[in-house]
Amino acid sequence: MNAILKHPFDGWGFEHDLRPLVIAGPCSAESEEQVLDTARQLKDQGIEIFRAGIWKPRTRPNSFEGVGSIGLEWMRLVQQEVGMKVSTEVANVKHVYEALRMGVDIIWIGARTSANPFAMQEIADALKGVDIPVFVKNPVNPDVDLWMGAIERIQGAGITKVGAIHRGFSTFDKTRYRNIPQWQLPIELRRKMPGLPMIVDPSHIGGRRDILEEIAQKALDLNYDGLIIETHCNPDKAWSDASQQITPATLKTLLGNLVIRHREIEANVNLDSLEDLRLQIDTFDNELLAILEKRMQVAEKIGEYKKTNNITILQPDRWQEILDKTLEKGKNVDLSDDFIAQIFKSIHQESINKQEKVMNED
Ligand code: PEP
Ligand code: MN
Repeated sequence: MNAILKHPFDGWGFEHDLRPLVIAGPCSAESEEQVLDTARQLKDQGIEIFRAGIWKPRTRPNSFEGVGSIGLEWMRLVQQEVGMKVSTEVANVKHVYEALRMGVDIIWIGARTSANPFAMQEIADALKGVDIPVFVKNPVNPDVDLWMGAIERIQGAGITKVGAIHRGFSTFDKTRYRNIPQWQLPIELRRKMPGLPMIVDPSHIGGRRDILEEIAQKALDLNYDGLIIETHCNPDKAWSDASQQITPATLKTLLGNLVIRHREIEANVNLDSLEDLRLQIDTFDNELLAILEKRMQVAEKIGEYKKTNNITILQPDRWQEILDKTLEKGKNVDLSDDFIAQIFKSIHQESINKQEKVMNED
């Protein structure tokens, strides 16, 4: 219980074992000056790992698609003259070979690519025999298995340093996010792949500067291991993703504002009281389950009644009434509308399932 956690990036060849790991740099490499200027400013702020997109998978044609291979030479200057490790995105076999040939230290696979098993397999095959860190971004669609599959293909190629990047998911509806975080998905991924390092990409989740910090803090509170944040020497003039990029100085402020909480029980924490609190949580969970069981038994009786009297299961007015009442009561006990709506929707769905079963029994 009191185990000292192995650092998530142990053996990855990163000099510092600071938590969180920070990767920063522009969305795209634009020119040698822009790359070096940004990198120098980041290094001055203590950032060790540089990012820049060389090949940019753009949603629509006729936008800036990256400078291509020449950008890798600027990345090499970042390694040699600034002394940072460099990382970039690869989307096909050609990118992998070029990035490896130029000595890129870390690669990541973007959200449009991780959604494509053929592309993932080809990239994995091209990586066989090298063991550099590889991060796999979540696919654009909220599908944990697809994300896992992409990671497994990389691991299957013998890569041992594999991590995940959470960059949010596409939606048709406009929300306050560019890509909605759907935090339950990365949490589920980590449950299924324990020990997998996970970093957050607040830039592509947020799509705007003013919510980067809030997203980063939330991720740290969920035990994420690092951040990748788009940073540009002149953000407003960036050739891609200008509205979400920040200066190295702003990044420094953001990092300074983050609260880094203990992820494991450390020696100075009173274990007894934590143990006690956990015991209380377990007791309440058991009570919740017992109450749910009783509620479902009543639902089954209702199912029998509806069957006998030949009426349909879904009674929309009744369901609306339940939802309204619980939302109202939820407010009094400081439970958010979202939470109440989600939990009662699932309870209601389970009741319907139970009733359906009863009504369709011979
Ligand atoms: C990026 O990191 O610049 C990028 C293109 O991200 P994503 O694949 O998450 O859209
Ligand atoms: Mn970008």
